[in-house]
Amino acid sequence: MGDAVAAARGAFPAWAGMGTDRRNDILYAICDTLTAHADELAEMEVRTTGLPISGVRPLARRAAHNFRAFAEVASTLSGESYSQAENYMTYVTREPKGVGALIAPWNAPLALGSMRIATCIAFGNTCVLKPSEYTPLSMFRMVELMHEAGLPDGVVNLVNGRGHVSGEAMVSHPDIDMIGFTGGSETGRRIMATAGANLKPAILELGGKSAAIVCADADLDQALDGALLGIYSNNGQQCLAGSRILVQRSIADRFIADFVARAKAIRIGDPMAASTQIGPLAFAAHRDRVLSFVDVATQDGAELLTGGGRPDGFDKGFYIDPIAVLAPSNAARICQEEVFGPFATFVIFDEVEDAIRIANDSAFGLVAYVWTGSVTTAMRCSKGIRAGTIWINTPMMRELRAPFGGFRESGIGRDGARSSADFFTEMKTTSIPI
Ligand code: NAD
Repeated sequence: MGDAVAAARGAFPAWAGMGTDRRNDILYAICDTLTAHADELAEMEVRTTGLPISGVRPLARRAAHNFRAFAEVASTLSGESYSQAENYMTYVTREPKGVGALIAPWNAPLALGSMRIATCIAFGNTCVLKPSEYTPLSMFRMVELMHEAGLPDGVVNLVNGRGHVSGEAMVSHPDIDMIGFTGGSETGRRIMATAGANLKPAILELGGKSAAIVCADADLDQALDGALLGIYSNNGQQCLAGSRILVQRSIADRFIADFVARAKAIRIGDPMAASTQIGPLAFAAHRDRVLSFVDVATQDGAELLTGGGRPDGFDKGFYIDPIAVLAPSNAARICQEEVFGPFATFVIFDEVEDAIRIANDSAFGLVAYVWTGSVTTAMRCSKGIRAGTIWINTPMMRELRAPFGGFRESGIGRDGARSSADFFTEMKTTSIPI
C-alpha cells in the first residue's frame, strides 16, 4: 500500500501541473482505447459478476465515456474574480486536491470504478484504486489499457485485496488527501469514521431502498416495463434499484398480477448469451443472503408471489428465480433493508400523499421513480420525496453532468460535473493590488 500511495504522490506534481489540453489528450485517448476494447472488458466483467452481457456492454462503453465526459468538465472550469476593495483584484482558482483513495464495489465494477477514477484524475489528481475482492479482473484490464493509451506511470495505481485489510490500509494512510467510496452504507460509516479521525474529506455513494410509485393514472404498460427494469435489470444488484414498488390500490391487483406474469417469463440463463435477462448472482454467500430475505419477508407477514428458489434446470451456478412479495406494510423489514438482488417488494397505497410518506419512511434516499399521467402529481412527488434523484415516467437515466448521490444513509456528496469538481479540487483565493 505504501508503494502505491508513494507512486501516486510522486506522479502528482507533473499530472497536476500539466495543462488541461495535454491532460485531456491523454484522457480522450483512454476513452478511445477503452471503447475499442469495450467488448473484451464487458466479457471479463460478466465472468466475475454474472451480469447479463446485454446489460454490461453498454456499461463498458459508458465506463470509457466517463473519461471524455469529465475531461470536458475539467477544461471548462471557470474561476471567479472580485474587486470589492478599491485598488485590489481578488480572484479564485481551483487546484487539484492531491492523492485520492478510491474504492469500488462488485456490482458494476467498470461503470463505478471508472466513475471514481475519471472524476478524480480529470481534475489533476492522482489516485490509488481498490476494486472489490469479488470482481477485480475487469478493473485490472481497464487500468492496463489506460497505460497503453498513454497514462503516465503513477497517476492511477491499482491495489487488490479485501476491504478490512487493503481497504482500511488505504483510507487510513496518512499521505492520501481524499477518499472516494462507492459501496454499502455500513462500510461507508466505517470509512467516514476513519476519514473524520484523520480529517480527510470523503465522498460516499452508498446503498438504497428506493421507491417506485405507480399511480392509477399512469401509462400502466410503461410503468410495468419500468418497474420490471428497475428491480430485475443487472440481476437486481444495483444501488438505484426500485426495490419497493408502491402501487395505488385501485390498480394494484391487475398491476401486480401482470408484473408477476412477466417476472415468471424472465429469461434466466448463461450471462454470456445475448438473450439472457438474469444471470447467476455474483457469489454464493450473496445468493444465500438474497434467498434468506424470503424468510425475513414471510415472517413479517409478506405474501410470496413468485420465485425464491433455484430455477428448474439449473443445478450449478448461483441462480435464483426472480422474487416478488407483497408486504403488509412499509414497516416490514423487507421494506427497510437493502437486499441487492432480484427481489421486488410491493406495498399498496391509497392517496399520493401516502405514497410520498412511505417513500420517505426509509433510512435511505438514493432515487425514486414516479409513474403518473398528472404533472401536478409528478411535481408533488418530486417536491415531497427526499431522495437525490427523482425519475418521472423515466426508467434509470444517468445524466453525467447532473449531481448524483443520496440523502440520509445513501451517501454524502455528489458525483456529477460541478459536484465532482467541487469535491476533487481545492479553491484558492488570491488578492493583488492593482
Ligand atoms: P461493500 O461496502 O461491502 O464493499 C465495497 C468496497 O469497499 C469493496 O471494494 C470492499 O473491499 C471495500 N471495503 C469493505 N470494507 C472496507 C473497509 N472497512 N475499509 C475500506 N474498504 C472496505 O459493498 P459491496 O457489497 O461491494 O457493494 C454493494 C453496495 O454498494 C450496496 O449497498 C450498493 O447499494 C452500494 N452501491 C452504491 C452505489 C451508489 O452510487 N450509491 C453504486 C453501487 C453500489
